[in-house]
Amino acid sequence: MTRQALVLGAGGFIGGHLVKRLKAEGFWVRGVDLKEHEHAVTAADDFVMGDLRDQQVVDAVIDRKFDEVYQLAADMGGAGYIFTGEHDADIMHNSATINLNVVHKARERGVDNLFYSSSACMYPAYNQEDPDNPNCAEDSAYPAAPDSEYGWEKLFSERLYLAYNRNYGMNCRVARYHNIFGPEGTWDGGKEKAPAAICRKVALAADGGTIDVWGDGLQTRSFLYIDECVEGTIRLLRSGFEGPVNIGSDEMVSINQLVAMVADIAGKTIHINHIPGPEGVRGRNSDNRLIEERLGWRPSATLTQGLEKTYEWIERQTRRNAPAGQPATAGA
Ligand code: NAD
Repeated sequence: MTRQALVLGAGGFIGGHLVKRLKAEGFWVRGVDLKEHEHAVTAADDFVMGDLRDQQVVDAVIDRKFDEVYQLAADMGGAGYIFTGEHDADIMHNSATINLNVVHKARERGVDNLFYSSSACMYPAYNQEDPDNPNCAEDSAYPAAPDSEYGWEKLFSERLYLAYNRNYGMNCRVARYHNIFGPEGTWDGGKEKAPAAICRKVALAADGGTIDVWGDGLQTRSFLYIDECVEGTIRLLRSGFEGPVNIGSDEMVSINQLVAMVADIAGKTIHINHIPGPEGVRGRNSDNRLIEERLGWRPSATLTQGLEKTYEWIERQTRRNAPAGQPATAGA
């Protein structure tokens, strides 16, 4: 019989890629989102536009047991969305409501393979003050002190899914994603993350031009290419391990280094203008010891390999969107 999967947040970046992968594996896939995918035609067999904050919508889309359920829907964005403080109430209310609704109905339907995407943003800020030596080992989560309400909601929801495992014998798996990037993701408009924003700025800059970067650029991060994220997600769901476990890259770079890598791919000389802006923690890197130990797998693609594909896609988007005849300039 054809296996059936449900992808919540299928109109988003990771959800869109996950649907494609599940289709390639032969699944019948239902996708659900508030909106259609902005950068690709959905590969889902059944795409439902609906608001998962509404329990009735959740009840209607989780209308069977499903072989696999992936819960990726969340109110989220990059630093410009999460760290300004302006969206805190929405982020917490919207995402927590979705998760409460989903786990409730999934239990009623007897779903026993449910994946939940938490985030590295739930790690304590006090372990991420040294850009050269951040600690994001899974067992470093407590005492909890995320640096954003987005991180607090993720921490609450990962605990929620694991509590359902304990009390109701469910089989939810929790991953903590670290900065996922790649083609067909948000690349402008304010919700984009650093790799996409930098690719856009470099694509729009002239050779020898200058781009704005928030902070001194010495803050460090690691970035995981989307195909690796999807692979790790599927492997975790099909494993016997509930997590929480990091799904991220451990190739840590500073934001200045990231700019240099993208400039190199673009074949341009790019200067950086450091401006004040939301930065998040000073350092963050995925600790991949646990995923390797429990799944016998860890991401292996290099940052450069992922950036090459991402830059190519974003550069194409900027050309498509630039008004004819007007030279594009780098914005903030
Ligand atoms: P995304 O914003 O592209 O996708 C999330 C999707 O959820 C969006 O399409 C959005 O419309 C949908 N959604 C939001 N509220 C909804 C609602 N009420 N009803 C139905 N759909 C709703 O983000 P993404 O990068 O694909 O991330 C997927 C998941 O992974 C999210 O839970 C996110 O928090 C988590 N995560 C992502 C990253 C990353 O680097 N991309 C890092 C850590 C965690």
